[in-house]
Amino acid sequence: MIPNRGPAVLGVTGATDLPAAADVVVIGGGVIGVTTALELARAGHDVCLLEKGVIAGEQSSRNWGWVRQAGRDLRELPLSKVARSRWQALAEEIGPELGYVECGIAYVARSPEQADRHRRWVAEATRLGIRAEIADVKTLAPGLNADYATALYLPGDGRAEPQVAAPLFARLAIAAGATVLQGCAAYEIERDAKGISGVRTERGRIATKRVVLAGGIWTSALLHRLGISLPQLKVLSSVCRTEPLSPEQRRAFSSCLSLGDLALRHRADGGLVAANSDTMVAEIVPDSLRYLRAFLPGLRSTFRGMKLRIGRGTLRELGWLASAGALERSLTRHRILDPTPDATALARVKDRLADRFPALAGLQREQAWGGMIDVTPDAIPVISEVPALPGLIIGTGFSGHGFGIGPGAGVALAALATGAESEVDLADFRFSRFKDGRLQLQSWL
Ligand SMILES: Cc1cc2nc3c(=O)[nH]c(=O)nc-3n(C[C@H](O)[C@H](O)[C@H](O)COP(=O)(O)OP(=O)(O)OC[C@H]3O[C@@H](n4cnc5c(N)ncnc54)[C@H](O)[C@@H]3O)c2cc1C
Repeated sequence: MIPNRGPAVLGVTGATDLPAAADVVVIGGGVIGVTTALELARAGHDVCLLEKGVIAGEQSSRNWGWVRQAGRDLRELPLSKVARSRWQALAEEIGPELGYVECGIAYVARSPEQADRHRRWVAEATRLGIRAEIADVKTLAPGLNADYATALYLPGDGRAEPQVAAPLFARLAIAAGATVLQGCAAYEIERDAKGISGVRTERGRIATKRVVLAGGIWTSALLHRLGISLPQLKVLSSVCRTEPLSPEQRRAFSSCLSLGDLALRHRADGGLVAANSDTMVAEIVPDSLRYLRAFLPGLRSTFRGMKLRIGRGTLRELGWLASAGALERSLTRHRILDPTPDATALARVKDRLADRFPALAGLQREQAWGGMIDVTPDAIPVISEVPALPGLIIGTGFSGHGFGIGPGAGVALAALATGAESEVDLADFRFSRFKDGRLQLQSWL
């Protein structure tokens, strides 16, 4: 049993023995790795997924559960369309246990400038065939005690339950023939003169010519061993869930709702997931200094207000510099990285909920947890083969919004891993953009 103070995650019974070889090895059992393995297995490929802890133990079970296109970076919209149709198909196949509901997602406009940005985003999304509108806040949230007039609203967006989603997808992958090993850390990606040759794990070596690296916040460290730099920051986000609401309280709002500094979603168990989106904390680690230049524009705009602090991660990652074995020890010591949630952030959530929704003021908090988000300098993911190392494909850096787009990323990564043509153009997600491109930050919300 792997200890975890985070939300309880649906269990997956996987394999226990490491195969000697696989067509593709996927490292990481979050929503990205799991959906990649599912696509590969369904297409008849021999795929082995390695997860150091349990399926969805980290970000993929700790997130808010919003499945959104609303306000996304425009470059992500084509992939988000693929993701939405995958969610619909998976929900049809799995049934209500997935908790996928197209309840709509709304972002209120807190200033005329924001309302204007929302209008421009709606125009762009509409051009791409996505149903988006500017809606009346009073209709969306009758219980809201605040003077907001309009919101960016996507009726086709929705929610799913993160504590079951990736595990249910993993069960489908296993049924389709994927080998899924939990409690099996990948220590090193091995290369020879032609490219990838295998993966060294805590249970031995697996030979392969193709690796999909979907290790969330651990991705950059594993790449570093290969001499490959990926600018990635780890940002703590804190979440809580409440006791179930009464039928009258449920009527306070219906869709997933962002008030800018407070985000709310109804859970399948009748409670709420609540978080604030304006308190970001990043621990100072060697990577923060290594990649400071790449992140500076973001720290002045999209990530403005991010607090930097020295914490446990600081010492842990300093250790990685000192010895090659230190990262391997971290991977097995932190089977599930379970950061302590930020008390200030949680106190703000409580106060804001009571202030904005008087009918919800007395709600009891049942659990709180922290999650470490992997962020890139331009806040869009890397979905790309590494040009310098044929056979290495990276799927990471989803920057706090990879749950909703996850099944679409799985389709794209499976295509990259097999040399098939991608359904969407992946040029904006190329790994080489950190060197060859001018990074562009889009901020619509
Ligand atoms: C608080 C919070 C709220 C969020 N809200 C939303 C939301 O509402 N909507 C949305 O779309 N997104 C949201 N996100 C973001 C979303 O959760 C992530 O983008 C997404 O889950 C990333 O999936 P992943 O598979 O890349 O990473 P993870 O889920 O972190 O999975 C990576 C896995 O790789 C494993 N691993 C790493 N290294 C190794 C190794 N060497 N060997 C074996 N295994 C390894 C880890 O143990 C981990 O399980 C939120 C995130 C957080 C933390």
